[in-house]
Amino acid sequence: TKHDPTFNFDNTYARELEGFYVPWQGAAAPAPKIVLFNRALADDLGLDSDALFSSDGAANFAGSVAPMGATPLALAYAGHQFGGFSEQLGDGRALLLGEVLDKNGARFDLQLKGSGRTPFSRGGDGKAVLGPVLREYLMGEAMHALGVPTTRALAAVTTGEEVARDGLKPGAVLTRIASSHLRVGTFQFFAARKEWDKVRKLADYAIDRHYPELASADDKYLGFLSAVLERQALLVAKWLHSGFVHGVMNTDNMTISGETIDYGPCAFVDTYDPKAVFSSIDRDGRYAFGNQPVIAQWNLTRFAETLLPLIDPDDSENAIRLATNVINSFVGRYTEIWTAGMRAKIGLASSEDDDAALINDLFTAMEGQNVDYTLFFRNLADAALGQDSNIVSLFDDREKILAWLKLWQDRLLRDPLDPNERAKAMNSVNPIYIPRNHRVEEALVAAETGDMSLLSKLLEVLADPFTNRDGLEGYEGPAPDDFGPYKTFCGT
Ligand code: AMP
Ligand code: MG
Ligand code: MG
Repeated sequence: TKHDPTFNFDNTYARELEGFYVPWQGAAAPAPKIVLFNRALADDLGLDSDALFSSDGAANFAGSVAPMGATPLALAYAGHQFGGFSEQLGDGRALLLGEVLDKNGARFDLQLKGSGRTPFSRGGDGKAVLGPVLREYLMGEAMHALGVPTTRALAAVTTGEEVARDGLKPGAVLTRIASSHLRVGTFQFFAARKEWDKVRKLADYAIDRHYPELASADDKYLGFLSAVLERQALLVAKWLHSGFVHGVMNTDNMTISGETIDYGPCAFVDTYDPKAVFSSIDRDGRYAFGNQPVIAQWNLTRFAETLLPLIDPDDSENAIRLATNVINSFVGRYTEIWTAGMRAKIGLASSEDDDAALINDLFTAMEGQNVDYTLFFRNLADAALGQDSNIVSLFDDREKILAWLKLWQDRLLRDPLDPNERAKAMNSVNPIYIPRNHRVEEALVAAETGDMSLLSKLLEVLADPFTNRDGLEGYEGPAPDDFGPYKTFCGT
């Protein structure tokens, strides 16, 4: 095996899954330059950051020079986009460079996004531009710090090329890591072609990589479906705990690992609103804040369909019955996980059956009240210490919340935590700093003109979202009124 002084690749996807990808190369980049580099992540991955800066790092991250040991591939996948099936999507502007092991031995894909056209590009140019690349970098790091499973950015480079996007924009490439890039859509690609031997090979690969405890189980494909469902239920529950709207939950953007992927039109809600939509193309609210669990279950059903011939090759009705039972478990599992997380957010260490009703009453009280979601939960720790003015003032109609606070305080009397412990526990799960939309926008606008200072500062603030720090008051609150309603655009 070749030894690579910088990356230490071990490329199982290339070795084991021939036919699931096309070997490919990145486009030439005239003047690659690293604009952001995630040194902490590089250290975790055992990469030599100094060597990357002094040698071909920028060209490696632009895709124009493949590092030693890389086997760049464009992966095949299909997917349901806004409910409609496309048999042929695939990496149209991305390349899997290879896999690296971090210092704990965990395997990660290293992927470039924006590195040029591939056989899967269809009409697209295969490129990405700086704003969306930096947006994905920032959002992924923010999610990671919030404790939400996610792909993460290792580097952002500009290519030195201008790319046509509503005018000319600086071309850029994101290098991201993921525990893999296997998606529901990867399974759909081969299932749609009825290549069941390939679906089985893919499932076996995914099980070995992500769910090795299932490898020798009798009903391993049914177990695999359950395991993916469990991770997705956890993921989407965490999105709702955090106020995150993914914005484009197509099946090609749903991972088998249970990581958030593809930060295109995503955003965090300011005001609590289950109908919140930011994406300019999501006109029917399919991917609205409160609809995300429903869509997760819908996507998992599409995933289940690809596994039916594996679950019972001889009896399709039996396979459907077994898979349906698993899919039907989603609502219960999701609700359990979501409720457990909400209990922690409202400061409960104990659990009672009526907690679900108490939590639902809270959301009923918040609806239509223009309550800032993040500040509400953060300030609730003050209320646990007897100071409820910062909570009450968030509501248009204070009566709505006063009634609920009374119910909550009665419940706290039956919970073991003392007020100080409770406030501390709440502050460890309720962030004070999230990527506020106006802050993200201003940082990206400045970055496009060459000023990275606001983005660097925002990354630093969001790296520790739970610790209140002096001097960061301007990062706490929602956008000022003159910021207007926020719209995002599918990352191109
Ligand atoms: P996304 O919306 O980023 O999840 O991408 C959906 C599909 O469109 C994937 O197959 C992408 O590879 C492809 N795609 C998105 N943008 C481009 C582009 N600029 N050039 C080529 N393919 C693209
Ligand atoms: Mg995608
Ligand atoms: Mg995308």
